[in-house]
Amino acid sequence: MSQHRAAGDRVTPGNAARKTGAGRHSAKHRVARRSTPSSTQIVGLTAALAAAAGAVGFSHSSLASPTQANSAVNLAAASLDNGSLSGITTARIQARQLATRDSSRVQLADTTKKQSAANKLAQARQIKLDASRALTAKRATALALAKAKQEAADKLARESATRCEIMVTGYHITATFGQGGSRWAHNHTGLDFAAPIGTRIGAVMKGVVIFADWAGPYGRQVQVRHEDGTVTWYNHMSKFSVEVGETVYAGDEVGRVGMTGNTTGPHLHFEVHPDGGAAIDPDPWLRNHCGLNPYTAG
Ligand SMILES: [Zn+2]
Repeated sequence: MSQHRAAGDRVTPGNAARKTGAGRHSAKHRVARRSTPSSTQIVGLTAALAAAAGAVGFSHSSLASPTQANSAVNLAAASLDNGSLSGITTARIQARQLATRDSSRVQLADTTKKQSAANKLAQARQIKLDASRALTAKRATALALAKAKQEAADKLARESATRCEIMVTGYHITATFGQGGSRWAHNHTGLDFAAPIGTRIGAVMKGVVIFADWAGPYGRQVQVRHEDGTVTWYNHMSKFSVEVGETVYAGDEVGRVGMTGNTTGPHLHFEVHPDGGAAIDPDPWLRNHCGLNPYTAG
């Protein structure tokens, strides 16, 4: 900001004078007067300065000429500028301080905003994470529930009283029901499943073990009574895997293949006794009650 403008802003007549071109002229004039002041000029200027100092009450009529007025205004302006320099400086410093403070506030506000945004983002992420965890937990629960349901269904199926399983695997039939021969006192009362010694023997259906002991020509024998009253016999076993009173399900091990009792080789001699009575042919019983063909089942 130039001194001229500062002066002009403060003293309106000066502005008016510069608009007519007198301002430029008066500037030259002022420099000349400053460099070579005479006593009369100083007196005249003092008067003009006095008039200009009371700028509020300034009027053209109180001045001798426009030239004089301009000079006075310029000088007064210079004087005003000098006089108010410290004030202006103070104002500028204050303004700068204010600006700095404002800037600090802006920075602070900006930092607060950024922090707030970061917090919001963190919150959003946390919510998302929580939701994801909840979903995972929900899925895990659903999976566990499905698994538990499946296990319950499997257990129910496994424990079904009507489910059947063939008693041994990897066997072949060596003697059928009713067959005659020198090995038996009467006709053959069961079905023979030849398999290596130690082969696992399972209960054909769910039932309760009612006998597990040595039985003469049958060797080691286990009897299982099923829910419909039918009793199945497992004979010539090398070992017992159950005790009397135990509940077994289809496929549960009752013993192992052996050749105890009256036998020429390791096999399971299997008998079926409806209602615990006389033995019947196991072949049709297995087919009708269990849907198992003993020649192809295992
Ligand atoms: Zn037999």
